[in-house]
This record gives sequence, C-alpha cells and structure tokens, in this order.
Amino acid sequence: MDFESYDVLVVGGGLAGIRAAIAVVEANPRLKVAMVSKVYPMRSHTVSAEGGAAAVLRPEDSYETHAFDTIKGSDYLADQDVVEAFVREAPIEVIQMEHWGCPWSREPDGKISARPFGGMTTWRTCFAADKTGFHMLHTVFQTSLKFDQIHRHDEAFATKLLVEDGRCVGVVAIDMRSGKFDAITAKAVILATGGLGRVYAFTTNGNICTGDGMALAYRAGVGLKDMEMVQFHPTGLPFTGILITEAVRGEGGYLTNKDGERFLKRYVPNKMELGPRDIISRAMTTEFEEGRGFEGAHGKYMHLDVRHLGEAVIDSKLPFMRELGREFVGIDIVHDPIPVRPVQHYMMGGVDADISGVTPLAGLYAAGECANVGLNGGNRLGSNSLSECLVFGAAAGRQAADYVSSARAPGSNPVGAMLKDETARIEAAYLDKKGGDERIGAIREEMQLAMDVGAGVFRTREGLEKLTKQLGTLRDRFEKIKIEDSSRTFNTELMAAMELDFMLEVADVITYSALAREESRGAHSRRDYPERDDAKYLKHTVAFRTDDISPRLEYRDVRITNFKPQARTY
Ligand SMILES: Cc1cc2nc3c(=O)[nH]c(=O)nc-3n(C[C@H](O)[C@H](O)[C@H](O)COP(=O)(O)OP(=O)(O)OC[C@H]3O[C@@H](n4cnc5c(N)ncnc54)[C@H](O)[C@@H]3O)c2cc1C
Repeated sequence: MDFESYDVLVVGGGLAGIRAAIAVVEANPRLKVAMVSKVYPMRSHTVSAEGGAAAVLRPEDSYETHAFDTIKGSDYLADQDVVEAFVREAPIEVIQMEHWGCPWSREPDGKISARPFGGMTTWRTCFAADKTGFHMLHTVFQTSLKFDQIHRHDEAFATKLLVEDGRCVGVVAIDMRSGKFDAITAKAVILATGGLGRVYAFTTNGNICTGDGMALAYRAGVGLKDMEMVQFHPTGLPFTGILITEAVRGEGGYLTNKDGERFLKRYVPNKMELGPRDIISRAMTTEFEEGRGFEGAHGKYMHLDVRHLGEAVIDSKLPFMRELGREFVGIDIVHDPIPVRPVQHYMMGGVDADISGVTPLAGLYAAGECANVGLNGGNRLGSNSLSECLVFGAAAGRQAADYVSSARAPGSNPVGAMLKDETARIEAAYLDKKGGDERIGAIREEMQLAMDVGAGVFRTREGLEKLTKQLGTLRDRFEKIKIEDSSRTFNTELMAAMELDFMLEVADVITYSALAREESRGAHSRRDYPERDDAKYLKHTVAFRTDDISPRLEYRDVRITNFKPQARTY
C-alpha cells in the first residue's frame, strides 16, 4: 500500500503549527511538509487572541526583567534556561512578524507599540488593537502560502499517532469531507494542536480546544507534564465565557465589587489590576464567597470599569471589547461597567517536550499550547503564549528539519496494518456500533460541570477524589454511547465523540496530577494545603498512561539558573 509521505508532518494549523511548518522549509527548502488541521487554519483558536504578544523591544526594558517576571509569574515552576532562551528569541520573532506584514499598532514614530499586561513589570505586550491573534495568524498563514513545499490537509482529523520501531512516523487522519481514513506518513511529526479548555463548562476556549494532541501523545506513551496547572482568567463574560482581554486592565480598567470598592488592594496592593491571573482569579472567588460580588442571572460577577478612559481611547485601543459588550451583554462599555467573572482560559501543562520541542518519543515534537516546554510553570503571564507559539513553533520546526535529514522513511507494511487496525477500532467503537443509549452531549456536559466544581480555581482532596470517581463513571458511560449519524460526509457527531474520548482522557490526568500535588503553587490552589512547599514540590509532575484508571506520576526537578525561589508577593 502507498501512503502520502512527507518529510515533516505538522498536526495543527494555529500559530505554533504554521510557524513550525514555515521554519522547516526555511531550514531546508528541499523538505516536503504536510499540515493537518481539523478546521480551516484561520479558524484555529489563535484567531481569537485579543491582547498581545510579549517581547522586549523598548530600550528601557531588559531580557532579565522579562525572564524574572515570567519565572516569578510561574511560581518558580518554570525551567529557567528555557525562559532565558525564550525572552531573547521573542523580539526576533515579533520583528520577523513585522517583516511578514503583521499590522502591529504603532507609536507616532512608527515603532511597534507596547501595552502593560498582568505580572509584567514594564510595557512589553505588542499588539494589533485588540485583535492581535487574528492579525498574527493571518500573517503566518499568508506567509505559508508562499511555500509550495507546505501541503495542507484542511478539515482532516487526526485520530492516532503512527509509531513504528519506537519512532513516530505519521498519523491516521479522517478526511472529514469524504469520511476516508488515511495514513499520512512522515519522518517526523510536530504536534501543535492547542489547548483543552472545553474540558470545562465555563471557558474562553473555542469548541475545537479539546486536548486532542495531548491525548494522542499520552496514548503513544509520552508523558504529560504539569497538567494540574490550569489557568483561570479573571475576566470572562458571565454565561458565554467570552474573554474580556487583560488589555482592558492594561489600558487602565478597574475591577470593583458590589460595594464599588477596588478590592484588589487587599490581595495585590502593589499591582492592583495588573496582578497575575491566578491571584486575581482567587481574589474574585474569595470576594464572591464573602458576599461582595454582584448577583446575576448567570451567577456572581464583578465590574470591570473603563468608563474613565473615555470613548477615544476605547475606540482606538479596545474597539473589539466595545463590540463584544454591545453584542453579547447589550451594554456600551463607554457608559456601562462590564460584568466579569473568572473563566478557564489556558493550559500550562502539556506534552512533555524540551526547549527544541523534542519529546521522549523519537520523531515526535510538540509546540504551542499543547506542549509543555517548561516556560509557563504554575501560571502563564498574559501575552507570553502568542510569543511562545512563535519561538517554540520555530524551534520545533528547525529541530525536526535537522532530524529528518538523517532519519529513514517509514516502511509501508506496518503502516498499512496500523491504518487497518485504527479504522476497525473507530468503526467498531462508533460507526458500526449497535445498541448503546448514552448521549455524547449529556456526558460532555456532566464532565464539564464536574471539572468546574472539582478542579476549578480552588481545589481540595475531597473534591478531587469525588471528581476521579465522577470521571470514572462517565468513562464507563462513554463506552455505551450511541452515534445516530452513520454517514461518512462531515460526520460531526463522530468527531464530537472522538473529541469527548480525548477530553475524558486529559480530564483524568488533570485530576490525578492535582490530587497528588499537596501544596498551593501558581494556578493550583489547594484549600487543604494553602502553602507552597518547595522542599517537596519544586518539581514537575509527569503523568504516564497505564492500563489502570489512574496514571503513573513521576516528578522531575525544575531547572533553576539565576533566580532563587522567593515568596511570591505583588
Ligand atoms: C479567547 C482567547 C484569547 C487569548 N488571548 C491571548 C493573548 O492576547 N495573548 C497571548 O499570548 N495568548 C492569548 N491566548 C492564548 C493563545 O491564543 C493560545 O495559547 C495560542 O493561540 C494557541 O496556539 P496553538 O497554535 O498552540 O493552537 P491553536 O491556535 O488552538 O490551534 C490548534 C490547531 O490544532 C488543530 N487540531 C487540534 N486537534 C486536531 C486533530 N485531532 N486533528 C487535526 N488537527 C487538530 C486545530 O485544527 C488547530 O488548527 C488567548 C486564548 C484565548 C482562548
């Protein structure tokens, strides 16, 4: 059997995936690259990023302060060598974006503008109004079109990594239009599949953020690192979870409780609205619990107030926020405060990868939100993620290009057998299955609500143990699901079932990793262990899949270079 074969296969058409694909052909124009994406690339979640991308570009800024802010923000769980390399590369990548045509917002002298962001000591968040992700994704996407070597497989859903003789040699993917199962082979595979926010009910993440790449790697034996570290952003719109960017606070917005008080003075007095996300989300939750939140039809909320900024600033710096207020809340933020509450936003954890995206499985690389290269530790600083996608997407692309120059092409015999097995598995589990009366939608919703309660802003042993049991029951019920759509063309019910399968897998890893970390660090806040415990837990959690329900957890030292762990106060 012959399969479509490439040098490098990138799974994911978001910022990290496209940047990686470009890096491969830049490193070696003779290489042939495949880019597989379950949605048209411009629909990747990157498109919805609003606030900006961090990079040291102003003369009064320094690599050292960006590194320190990131490491302190991570609650000392970041690998410091990785952070130090990142802060040096980020400005190079932002300028590269400039050269590729990114329409950054500018100062009167033409330089790229920067705005303040949470946890950053100075202004270093470069932005394109409040649609930064849209413009950055457009920029890399249009650039990728220049390269004939990049072959796109849009609307192709990867279901499994192909592993032959201990190395990753491609994926099985369903072409969603025809329903055909294909083996797409390559000498190296880069995972850039984004986050997993849809594991939670209340999230800023798009429907497609279902942790697929993390689950694919986990099932192939690769560890998932620091999965207990889930970021909650302080300012989501109640009900929809739509993000109100941190740039609103960066531009000077205030957070107030129902008494009209800027309550952050009790929690982050020196930073106030520009404190880091984990601490502000906890402050808001505490205020709610103590009765100082507003009560609304969709639960408790706070006010985010930008009225004092005036219409001109709002229209030039935050026009999209005004649009969101109008469309989704029925308010004009020039005249009305915005209702907000903490919302799941980002996954610090991910596929265990090093500074070049190398995973422990030969031929497999990972970059962007699906990866954990050691940058974000216990809490990511806002605007570091878009830069991370560029820096580590490019690094993974270069590394994969180097690796394939000496790697042999995958053989077709084992690949053929693996394709047959995977096709049979999906047909038996979903398409040709008889009986079953469980609904995907019901299981998904119960999982999401259980995760909100059990693995949210604050956690306890009791809550996490209960959650492991709930997830176990949902997994049993998932075995009995019914798929009503037996067609092959755009069978979205089948995709939803496979996404739920991935989500149940990663939800379990989040929960067991959180249960085992008996301390509070970064976004992981245990009510029963409120202190950080460096003696025991200045370590990465790495979770491996077992045949049992719970993963096997290993701990790995954090690499410390210049910044000794200190108490984290702002
Ligand atoms: C609302 C919002 C606003 C944000 N704002 C900012 C910001 O201002 N600054 C900042 O730094 N960060 C921000 N972030 C975070 C940042 O945008 C993301 O972390 C980043 O864009 C992720 O990029 P990515 O390339 O890793 O993944 P994504 O952009 O999510 O792309 C994932 C890709 O993988 C593909 N894929 C996934 N599963 C499969 C599969 N099974 N088969 C085939 N393809 C698959 C998808 O089709 C998609 O192309 C924001 C996030 C959100 C949700």
